[in-house]
Amino acid sequence: MISRSQSEALFEKSKTYFPGGVNSPVRAFKSVEGTPLFIKRGDGANIWDEDSNQFIDFCCSWGPLILGHNNQKVYESIVAALQNGASFGAPTRLENQLAELILPRIPFVEKLRFVSSGTEAVMSALRLARGYTGKNKIIKFEGCYHGHVDALLVKAGSGLATLGTSSSAGVTESLANDTIVLPLNDVEALKACIVEYKDEIACAIIEPIPANNGLLLQEKTFLLVLRELCTENGILLFFDEVISGFRVSFGGAAAYYGIYPDIVSYGKIIGGGLPVGAYGASNEIMAMIAPDGPVYQAGTLSGNPVAMAAGIAQLSVCAEPDFYAKLEEKTQFFVQRINKYANSKNYPFELVTIGSIFWLSFNGKKRIANADEINPDMTSFKIVHRELLNRGVYLGPSGYEVGFISQAHEFESLETAANKFCEALDVVFES
Ligand code: PMP
Repeated sequence: MISRSQSEALFEKSKTYFPGGVNSPVRAFKSVEGTPLFIKRGDGANIWDEDSNQFIDFCCSWGPLILGHNNQKVYESIVAALQNGASFGAPTRLENQLAELILPRIPFVEKLRFVSSGTEAVMSALRLARGYTGKNKIIKFEGCYHGHVDALLVKAGSGLATLGTSSSAGVTESLANDTIVLPLNDVEALKACIVEYKDEIACAIIEPIPANNGLLLQEKTFLLVLRELCTENGILLFFDEVISGFRVSFGGAAAYYGIYPDIVSYGKIIGGGLPVGAYGASNEIMAMIAPDGPVYQAGTLSGNPVAMAAGIAQLSVCAEPDFYAKLEEKTQFFVQRINKYANSKNYPFELVTIGSIFWLSFNGKKRIANADEINPDMTSFKIVHRELLNRGVYLGPSGYEVGFISQAHEFESLETAANKFCEALDVVFES
């Protein structure tokens, strides 16, 4: 029997310090009914818990670690920056350097603002959209998660999906009333909404690759129609690329689909594992932001030099030729093995994938685009999660969340993990 005694003891204590024992809800293992593992160390594709159990990690800090844990270049860049001081609250050369990596590669972003999380990026950019258009309402799509921004905690995914609630307490009715929630991938519902509210809508925000409530891959035509309708009706199109940015390609889903939004938010990968978010748009839109314009937004630790250094090192590697092609090749190697096996056994299971993202779908369909098609029974996920943990493979503890493959995942460990995955599926479907 694998010992989890250190994690268990730490969790007993942390429950007395933090709500649910954690500082972010999905970490609590509530939906998989276990004790969260307290992680001591990560290196490459592996992590070790406080009991020194080793796992091949497919959570990768929920996405930021596209180069894996403790990447040498990221580490050295962080240490070099830290030697000069942790924070100044004044501009540094490092902010310019990170912007210089991003701006030339993302044609629809002319100016950026760095912040400290994905939530902060979305929240600020939403204010920008309202300030720029002078309109109040926003369209969001069911199941998309955009961080814990009040106005967007309505029918959202991620921790809300995991906890089985669609909206958060503490969000006022008036804020929720300004948020129009539409089903994903539904052109007719979108058209009807725009006809009714077009003069009141500041922006339509979407995860172009919705990855917080399963992986709900959208038809490209839906995204194209959304782009067109926004343009025709003076509505800003806002891509929340906190997961997909620098993940499915350097330019995120916008580059992947060749559909450009008016406003974009980034997070996760952009900070190399340190807390960084960003939002960006054209010069004209960004001219609204303080100190140039009337939309106020600020941050004591925004553009923090150590975090910028981590982002610079990580994005420099991502910008190398073939980086994304190689990552996708690894992902396909892993995913196809598992899907072939599940298929050969007629298991109603599919690893849905795009780029280096994957999601465990238990409804037997290859591809689903809408939140209501997800099999709400998470029993199978719970079993797979437990069986994988027992076999040294770590998935994020929620069946609604996606997994990630990093550059540090070698073919050998992917093969090992795929075999363990197949064993875990046998336990689900044959016992
Ligand atoms: N938007 C999306 C699409 C996200 O996936 C997330 C986080 N998972 C956020 C926003 C919020 O980012 P953060 O957790 O850094 O605040």
